[in-house]
Amino acid sequence: MTHVGIDIDGLRALTGGAVIAPGDPEYDVARLVWNGCFDRRPAVIVRPGSAKGVAAALSEARRHGLDVTVRGGGHNYAGHAVADDAMLIDLGALDDVTVDPEAKLAHCGGGAQWLQVDAATTEHALGVTGGFISDTGIGGLTLGGGMGWLTARCGLSCDSLVSAEVVTAAGEIVIASAEENPELFWGLRGGGGNFGIVTTFTFALHDLPPLVQLTMLYWTPEHGVAGVAAGRDLIAKLPSGYCAAILGVSAPPAPFVPENYWGQPGFVVAVVGFGAPEELAEVVAPLRAAAPAPAWDLVTPIPYTQLQQMFDESAPRGQFAYEKAIYVDDFSDAVIAEFVRWVPGKLSPLTLVPIFPLLGRYTETDSAATAFGGSRQPQWVINISAISPDQATYEPERQWVRDFWDALRPHASSGAGYINFLNDDDQQRIQETYGEKYSRLAALKAVWDPDNVFHHNANIRPAL
Ligand code: FAD
Repeated sequence: MTHVGIDIDGLRALTGGAVIAPGDPEYDVARLVWNGCFDRRPAVIVRPGSAKGVAAALSEARRHGLDVTVRGGGHNYAGHAVADDAMLIDLGALDDVTVDPEAKLAHCGGGAQWLQVDAATTEHALGVTGGFISDTGIGGLTLGGGMGWLTARCGLSCDSLVSAEVVTAAGEIVIASAEENPELFWGLRGGGGNFGIVTTFTFALHDLPPLVQLTMLYWTPEHGVAGVAAGRDLIAKLPSGYCAAILGVSAPPAPFVPENYWGQPGFVVAVVGFGAPEELAEVVAPLRAAAPAPAWDLVTPIPYTQLQQMFDESAPRGQFAYEKAIYVDDFSDAVIAEFVRWVPGKLSPLTLVPIFPLLGRYTETDSAATAFGGSRQPQWVINISAISPDQATYEPERQWVRDFWDALRPHASSGAGYINFLNDDDQQRIQETYGEKYSRLAALKAVWDPDNVFHHNANIRPAL
C-alpha cells in the first residue's frame, strides 16, 4: 500500500516499527498529544524501533518532501509533536532505561517518560532531576533544560546529561558529548529539539534515598500573603540539598485535606528533605513560626517515585491547556501580592500556578556551559498553567492567564521565558530567552540542520 507516495509496508520494514496512516484503527489515538487543544492530522505516524529506524523514517520523509514532527512524551503545551500533513516520528517505542549503578549512569531511550527513569534509578538509590508530572517525556523536557523537585539539589535535567545519541537532519547517527561533537552537546543542553532527534540520553546520576520526607502547608487566600512570604524566606535560605516549591492550586479531595477545603483555591509551600523526619521538621520550624497556622498540612515520608507522581491527577491528558511563564530575580512582596490576588480567580480546579525556585545547585553551573536560555543567578519561574475540561471554560481561562501574566510583567527579570513553557504566541520571546547565546545556536543550527527540518519547536533559525 502507498500513502502520500510512501510505500507503507516498505517503511515498516525500514523502520522496524509501527507505521500508522489515516483510516488505520490506531490513527486517532496515535495522533493525540497531551494538550487537547490540538486535533491535528499527520499524513503518517511512524514509531521506529531503533536509532537506525528513526534515521530511515527521517530520510523517507525528506525524500517525499514531508514536513516532520518529533514526539517524545507528547507533553508540549504548544503541541509541537504533531502537525497536519506531516510525518510524525513517535519515539514511544524507544523507552528502555538501563542503569549502571557502579558508574552511576542511566541510558534512557529518547521516548522514555520520567516515571520509567525514576523507577529504574531509585531501585539503586540514585536519581536525576525530572519534571513534576511523571508521564512527561524526558526528550522535550531535557532538551529545553528540565526543572523539577530536584533542581536545587542536582541542577537542571540537562546539567546531568553526559552524552546523547542523535539522528541528524542528514540522517547520520552521531554521539554528542564533551569529547565528541562538543558544540552539538552544548546546544542539546537547553537548545530544544532544534539539532536532531535524540535516540538515547545518558545521564549522570546522583545519590537519592528512595524514601524522602515531605512537608506541605496550605493557606487560604485570606492568609496567602503571609504564608507565601514565609515560604519564600525559608526557601531562599534552605540548607544545601533541600528542595521546595510554592504552588497556587485548588486543594485536592485527598484524605489529608479537610473536606471543607476540597476544591478551594489556596497556596501550598512544599519542602522536601532527604534525611530523617526530625531534620526536616527542624528546617521547616521557622516557616511555621513566621506565618499564621496553615489551614491543613501534610507531613509524611514518601517514596521519591510517588513524590514524582503526586500532581499527575492534576494534569490528565486531553484537557485544554495554555500557559505562560515568567522569570523573577526578586520574588518580592509585590510579586506575592499579585500571585495571591490572581490565583483565586482561576475557573478550573485543575489550573495551577507552580513556582519553581531556581536556587542551590542550579546556580552552580556556569551559564556559558550549556545553551539553557535563562540566567544562572538565583531566580524563580512562575508558571501560570491553565488546564480546562472543555473549550467553553478554556477561552476565559486563557484570558485569565494572559491578564495574570501582564500583571507580573513589570516585575520580570527580562522578557525571557523558559522555552519549555513557551506557546506559539510567545515565538518573539525565543531570541530574548537565549540572549547572547542565540547567534551561537543559530550557527550550530546552520551546521546540523541548515534546511530547518526540525522547526516544530521553539525554533532557532539557521544562520545562513
Ligand atoms: P513532546 O510534545 O513529545 O515534544 C515536544 C518537542 O520536544 C518536540 O516537538 C521536539 O521538538 C522535542 N523532542 C521531544 N523529544 C525529543 C527527542 N528525543 N529528540 C529530539 N527532540 C525531541 N517542564 C519542566 O521543566 N518541568 C516540569 O515540571 C514540567 N511540568 C510540566 C507539566 C505539564 C502538565 C506539561 C504539559 C508540561 C510540563 N513541562 C515541564 C514542560 C515540558 O518540559 C515540555 O512540555 C516538554 O516539551 C515536554 O517534553 P515531551 O517529550 O513530553 O514533549
